Amino acid sequence: MNLELSEEQTAVRRLAREFAEREITPYAAEWDRAESVDRSIVKKLGDLGFLGLTVPEQYGGSGGDHLAYALVTEELGRGDSAVRGIVSVSLGLVAKTVAAWGTEEQKQAWLPRLCSGDALGCFGLTEPGTGSDAGNLTTRATREGHAYVLSGSKMFITNGTWADVVLLFARTNDEPGHRGVSAFLVPADSPGLTRREIHGKLGLRGQATAELALDGVRVPASAMLGPEGKGFSVAMSALAKGRMSVAAGCVGIAQAALDAAVGYAAQREQFGKPIAQHQLVQELIADISVDVDAARLLTWRAADLIDRGQPFATEASTAKLFASEAAVRAASNALQVHGGYGYIDEYPAGKLLRDARVMTLYEGTSQIQKLLIGRARTGVSAF
Ligand code: FAD
Repeated sequence: MNLELSEEQTAVRRLAREFAEREITPYAAEWDRAESVDRSIVKKLGDLGFLGLTVPEQYGGSGGDHLAYALVTEELGRGDSAVRGIVSVSLGLVAKTVAAWGTEEQKQAWLPRLCSGDALGCFGLTEPGTGSDAGNLTTRATREGHAYVLSGSKMFITNGTWADVVLLFARTNDEPGHRGVSAFLVPADSPGLTRREIHGKLGLRGQATAELALDGVRVPASAMLGPEGKGFSVAMSALAKGRMSVAAGCVGIAQAALDAAVGYAAQREQFGKPIAQHQLVQELIADISVDVDAARLLTWRAADLIDRGQPFATEASTAKLFASEAAVRAASNALQVHGGYGYIDEYPAGKLLRDARVMTLYEGTSQIQKLLIGRARTGVSAF
């Protein structure tokens, strides 16, 4: 793996960094308090090409590689994880999956709008009763002539109330477990689909996370994405790459924690000198720094494998597991550097810790990543 970035990768990272410094970071605390990111950010992300970064140019994307995607995701995550998640879900989980599995008609219908930011996507897999055990979902899709009728509910759906299209997973037959699951592209304004925003989250408060209820939602049979009964493979292929993007977002959190800790340690004085001169404060900063570097290298390795068409799922799980736990540690260490001031929202460390905490939960908890890595290493499934 070549660790030297290409000119294009360096340029897109600079573009994302400058955008985040100008349009995201200054507003992140305000959006967190208001429990909503300013929605105009979506169009700005689309105009810069970030919402179609890895989608082929013929469908309105930028045709970029996954390392460029990791760099942009890191910079957005450094600014505000709530914004980063909008891109990771709409591009990483939805648009990329349409590009990989969609018919020409589905690609033409959704990709140009998703890439430009005129439309947003959300990913409807989790249900109230099935999270880690997603293959046992119970939302039903019943065939009626040339249509499917969908009924059930979805939980914790990022972009849920903002999205224009739901990549939705539902059971099309009674085969046990994941074999009966199919994927659908459901317009979010379909009659019978209602969305309720979930409030009171620990972190990612600026992000629209929703519960979806489907009551007799009718879609044409052509809305099915991928073959019937292959919906679980569609979901897992999306999540495998999605984990690389979550890992990159976590690197952004850890880097922001490092920036905050270093800045504060340089100006805060105790015992007659800046706290940066106390060795135990330097230890906290060194620990954050090691976490940033290790998480970034694991993330780049996973992105590089994807770009080279090599097997990457275990490396993406490894990056996601390490980077998410590292982001929590880094944010907690940054808070420690701030002392009592870290505990109030005038400083960014508390929000970084709250935002980091969900990273070990979604797109497969840390325990699920360990089972995936363990299965890959031993050849034995513990599921
Ligand atoms: P459970 O599966 O009930 O797990 C509870 C605990 O048991 C965890 O610690 C877990 O690791 C452990 N556990 C479960 N099974 C095992 C096992 N076999 N071995 C060992 N330990 C196990 N979902 C979507 O579909 N789309 C989204 O856009 C989305 N966005 C989200 C945004 C937020 C803010 C949150 C909080 C969640 C989001 N999710 C989304 C859902 C997320 O993916 C699930 O919460 C996650 O998969 C865990 O499922 P669960 O919450 O039901 O926990």
